[in-house]
Amino acid sequence: MMEKKNLDWSNLTFSYQKTDKRFVANYKNGAWDEGALTDDDMIVMSEDAGVLQYAQTVFEGLKAYTTKDGKIVTFRPDLNADRLHDSAVRLEIPPISKEMFLRSIHEVVEANAAWVPPYGTGASLYLRPYIFGISPVIGVKPADDYQYRVFATPVGPYFKGGAKPIAVKISDFDRAAPRGTGNIKAGLNYAMSMHAIVTAHNEGFAENIYLDPATRTKIEETGGANILLVANDDTLVVPKSSSILPSITRRSLVYVAEHYCGMKVVEREVYLKEIFDGEFKECGLCGTAAVISPVGKINDHGKEFEFASGMAEMGPWMTKIRQTLLGIQEGDIEAPEGWIYTIVE
Ligand SMILES: *Cc1c(COP(=O)(O)O)cnc(C)c1O
Repeated sequence: MMEKKNLDWSNLTFSYQKTDKRFVANYKNGAWDEGALTDDDMIVMSEDAGVLQYAQTVFEGLKAYTTKDGKIVTFRPDLNADRLHDSAVRLEIPPISKEMFLRSIHEVVEANAAWVPPYGTGASLYLRPYIFGISPVIGVKPADDYQYRVFATPVGPYFKGGAKPIAVKISDFDRAAPRGTGNIKAGLNYAMSMHAIVTAHNEGFAENIYLDPATRTKIEETGGANILLVANDDTLVVPKSSSILPSITRRSLVYVAEHYCGMKVVEREVYLKEIFDGEFKECGLCGTAAVISPVGKINDHGKEFEFASGMAEMGPWMTKIRQTLLGIQEGDIEAPEGWIYTIVE
């Protein structure tokens, strides 16, 4: 048995903490090298690196955690590999192979096994793979050389003392143009969200809901999570748009709702007006960190709508699909083929 680090696992926050090993691979002369683990958490690069000048970088986020039977696993990392590939291609970054992605995740988790929180703490080891342009560019063009890295950092449970519903606002800012980069996981989509989220927090809201920029009548997603709704007839409704980031949690919850919870699922455009007309009784935000955060209220320029599920607790359908997915992730409920990727037996 490897000795765990002496951390207060249940009281970790979502912040960076340097761990022992990270994976680094370099792209030079038109090819990726094999990559390897390193102790070095520092990056030395040109003052004119592509990532610094024109934000040429894409990333992923996933977690490793301990299951009830003591295994260290990750959840559907093959989908993170596919998404990183798609993000890279959109920004003219040379994609890495799925083989290298999975190997890097495996090696980083194995090498930092002492940092993987024990079962039952609600904490996990967050993994951050990313690729960025490292060689100098001054004319606007893709960099010649790139670096791929994966680091790991232990993070605490997203909800301390239960998943309390949040109040969100309809943002006055737009997130992603119709044929822009909203559907890829890129830092540039977050840079533009900083001012919007600080503004929302100053006004007392936990998150921003962004509308479709073309018509500003349909809901898309928040800065870092997809939206799910439960209609009054118990259908799970998933907003559809080509500028929404394809959340792996959302795709998994949709499967769970249909195949484990007997819900009907519809993916379609959702008008903000439908929400204010009272068509939906529950709302949640989904992503790796929280699985689902319940939304109790939506505020559109002072006009407020409170879902029937209210501000006291998560609604019954959101609770059911969230608990089912957590059960699958933790090994209490049988997982669909290929969902759980075991790293340490
Ligand atoms: C990462 C991300 C999500 C959530 O995706 P998961 O794969 O479920 O973690 C949702 N929206 C945006 C904009 C994201 O960057």
